[in-house]
Amino acid sequence: MSQADIAITAHDFAAAPHRHFCTDCGISRTDDPKNCGRACQFIKPDYSRLEREVHGRARDPARPDELHFGPFRRMLRARLNPALPGAQWTGITSRIGERLLATGAVDAVLTMAPDPADQWRPVPVLITSPEDMAGVRGMRMGYAPLLALLKPARAQGFKRLAVIGIPCQVYALRALERELGFDRLYVIGTPCSDNTTTENFHKFLSLLTADPSTVTYFEFRADYHVEMRFSDGTKREIPFLQLPISDLPADFFPMTCRTCVDYTNVLADITIGYMGGQGEQWLLIRNDRGEELIALLGNELHTECPTSAGKRHGAVKGFLENTARAAGGLPLRRMPKFMRRIVGWLMPRIGPRGLEFARARVEMKAVETILHLRRTDKSRMKSMIPAHIWHLVEPYGLKPEQDESLDG
Ligand SMILES: Cc1cc2nc3c(=O)[nH]c(=O)nc-3n(C[C@H](O)[C@H](O)[C@H](O)COP(=O)(O)OP(=O)(O)OC[C@H]3O[C@@H](n4cnc5c(N)ncnc54)[C@H](O)[C@@H]3O)c2cc1C
Ligand code: SF4
Ligand code: SF4
Repeated sequence: MSQADIAITAHDFAAAPHRHFCTDCGISRTDDPKNCGRACQFIKPDYSRLEREVHGRARDPARPDELHFGPFRRMLRARLNPALPGAQWTGITSRIGERLLATGAVDAVLTMAPDPADQWRPVPVLITSPEDMAGVRGMRMGYAPLLALLKPARAQGFKRLAVIGIPCQVYALRALERELGFDRLYVIGTPCSDNTTTENFHKFLSLLTADPSTVTYFEFRADYHVEMRFSDGTKREIPFLQLPISDLPADFFPMTCRTCVDYTNVLADITIGYMGGQGEQWLLIRNDRGEELIALLGNELHTECPTSAGKRHGAVKGFLENTARAAGGLPLRRMPKFMRRIVGWLMPRIGPRGLEFARARVEMKAVETILHLRRTDKSRMKSMIPAHIWHLVEPYGLKPEQDESLDG
């Protein structure tokens, strides 16, 4: 990426004021940090109002997957052919940004580049040339103040903007969208879960390999394996159950990400993930703008109907029991090593797969939100947990206790 295209970086901003529940989306670093009160996913989110504003309708009870994934027009399993080098999956996300710039549909794309000194650290950037989108491909672990560049983007005269963001960033963006003054705004979202600080992520890598500096790629896959790639071209696949999770400190994942209520980026125009893709990417096209974005890819995009197999109930119930037993720590490993191998082999074959895997993960996240907030920040539950989260956990016997829900 040429430095010319990094119009402004977040390094130009003052340090963020400290807040307990905050992923530093950038709003607190603007000239009006009080906007956090209206814009924050962790204060008093209003998903149902924003879903109606953004997508023109609420979740439809006749389409049960909308309870899990938010409003959508259609879901696809998809891949770019050819896949783009350096992309996290096949590069659908960054290619859409590239096409928006190449066709003149936007003046700039706001997204995260790797820090030149640390490939795992995200740094917000405004990209204006299509060829520079190649430099932002791939996933970084951590937080960076993406939205702090919104006002500078307007000040530079950009009127049509695309933003690529994770759910907590997209919530704040949508909450303030109307007053930002853009003529056109495209929102390209990815799902997000289990994020942590870049420093913590480096510690995790050092538990997995003797030379973490050689790791070039890391992903939790939908077949219950983590995939790691190394600078010498080798690859390692580790079953989830073999990961050294019990060696991590209890606060490895910040409370924000353990209680985040939006896994699938329900307010984006299009969500681009992998969870429901069974080895391919997974797209949720949510509205007209999402259709426009996907049309930009033409024949490069290969699509199929998503599939679904297995049953999630037992897996989610087991997760709930483990999380409750861990009492705030990371779920304990009580299984002997040989059993972990067997279960690790069985899970991709008989566990929930495709859309059922995505439903299971969304329910697990809802379970975590409730158990962790109940234990540590009960007073937040009423304002922070939307009604649909309670519906998701109902089949597992979790119900709002007194003062935990706006309805209760
Ligand atoms: C912390 C994190 C957790 C995720 N967890 C899941 C998950 O559980 N399930 C799932 O289906 N998908 C998850 N994703 C999304 C997934 O990893 C891929 O990013 C997505 O599928 C797009 O792949 P791609 O090849 O189209 O992306 P690419 O074309 O490679 O583009 C990736 C885009 O993501 C942006 N990006 C990278 N890191 C960050 C970051 N830290 N914050 C904000 N933006 C970033 C880049 O700037 C780039 O624009 C997660 C992403 C992140 C950042
Ligand atoms: S709106 Fe953003 S910056 Fe403000 S408290 Fe929430 S996450 Fe932090
Ligand atoms: S898990 Fe939720 S709170 Fe944490 S970074 Fe991702 S979207 Fe933000």
